[in-house]
Amino acid sequence: MPKPYQRALCWVRRDLRLYDHRPLAEACAQANEVALVFILDTQILSQLKDQDDRRITFIVDSLQEMDDRLRQQGSGLIVLHGDPVDLIPDLAERFQADAVFTGKDYEPLAKARDAEVKKRLSHSGKQLQLFKDQVIFEAGEILNQSGQPFRVFTPYSKVWKTNLNPTRDAADWTPNLEVLTPIDEWKEEWSLEKIGFRRNDLWLTPGEAAGRKRLADFSDQMSDYAKTRDFPAQSGTSGLSVHLRFGTVSIRDCVRCALDQRADKWLTELVWREFYQDILAHNPNVVSETYQEPYRNLEYPGTEDHWVAWCEGKTGFPIVDAAMRCFNATGWMHNRLRMIVASFLTKDLLLDYRKGEAYFARFLLDFDLASNNGGWQWAASTGVDAQPYFRIFNPILQSHKFDPEGRFLRAWLPELKELSNDDIHWPHEVKEFDLLAAGIALGDNYPHPIVNHSVQRDLAVKLLESARRS
Ligand code: FAD
Repeated sequence: MPKPYQRALCWVRRDLRLYDHRPLAEACAQANEVALVFILDTQILSQLKDQDDRRITFIVDSLQEMDDRLRQQGSGLIVLHGDPVDLIPDLAERFQADAVFTGKDYEPLAKARDAEVKKRLSHSGKQLQLFKDQVIFEAGEILNQSGQPFRVFTPYSKVWKTNLNPTRDAADWTPNLEVLTPIDEWKEEWSLEKIGFRRNDLWLTPGEAAGRKRLADFSDQMSDYAKTRDFPAQSGTSGLSVHLRFGTVSIRDCVRCALDQRADKWLTELVWREFYQDILAHNPNVVSETYQEPYRNLEYPGTEDHWVAWCEGKTGFPIVDAAMRCFNATGWMHNRLRMIVASFLTKDLLLDYRKGEAYFARFLLDFDLASNNGGWQWAASTGVDAQPYFRIFNPILQSHKFDPEGRFLRAWLPELKELSNDDIHWPHEVKEFDLLAAGIALGDNYPHPIVNHSVQRDLAVKLLESARRS
């Protein structure tokens, strides 16, 4: 059967891979000649504050890997720098593409961008074809019995799992790359430096090969996930969030793996990711305001000094400080620690969750608008299905429970490393003599606690209660 299109572009965005890629598979099936393009989007890049932003290193290395592989196919990756709203229609014209194939993006700004690209393409009779690719179920596909979006995770997750038809929803969309064309005519010189950025160190290897290897390695331990997932000193979680964010691993592949391994707990984490995407799609207002209405006018009384201490990991609460120092050094934080530092910022320091959310957004290698906003609003008790406002993490107990031998603490707070496994979680009650023997001078090489947890806890409950009443 003849194909509907002679030429098509596949515009890759948060799907930096060549396997199990629905838009690319569709483009290759529907057009006789296909080229791939990635836009280094100046609308996004100009918002970044740091020249050594780790995400740019990850993207650039992943693009390089794609280009190398495509060259082996006799093609290559077209990389352009500018505004996609201008560049995609322009390239489609020059390449004489009949259609542009791409994966759906559900973030508010991305949706507006895609609507504009679609409009401009249509002026010259070209189509923008959008395909669901980064989720199993998109907003509107998982609804309650009254046809409304869910507001609570557990029933959402139940319906998500009941509705999942693995053959249909987790099918492998690996494309037939034979139709890829030579692209030298459209290729432009580009580099990290040329677009105004510098390389930074990464704790993981970028690219599809590394993403797939991480998934394959993790699949051997997936069934232990429920037991190991909460301990930051163990490598009990997959570390796949960065690959999922940039699409160097396919969500369908992750789901197939979880089903093969019968790793239901890990599958549930993938469902959380989709739950927050669903919330964002149905409630784009959460980007700037609380999901729960009563908290919208809440004024947080926290101070600038406390904010700086939190950012720098100098609060005097070892688990918070170790987590923040790890984060500042790597752009990564274990989920248990994200919950602890977020709770500490909002409930112990009484600072606006949006400050913490923005700090994470700036440095998190796996930054994802929906999950980050969902995680912060969960911790602040302002979000959908959030932590109840009166249940407040005690950072010292959390530390004892989830880092019982102080291994994570010792890795990031070497000044405390000589303390016993018991004392390291709270050096402030250790006898002067034992502190001296461990080489610790509180207030000198390790800070005094900047707040009293039980006092702050009561203040937080009162603050949130008064917001709920007003
Ligand atoms: P695993 O435990 O192996 O889980 C597998 C995958 O499931 C993850 O890669 C992720 O895609 C998804 N997942 C797991 N937990 C969650 C969750 N609670 N919410 C949504 N998806 C989840 N995750 C991000 O991907 N980007 C963010 O910007 C982000 N910000 C967060 C901010 C806060 C305050 C909190 C509390 C959580 C945040 N999370 C975010 C969720 C979670 O911390 C990370 O997804 C997880 O730590 C990534 O590690 P992993 O890949 O080893 O996860």
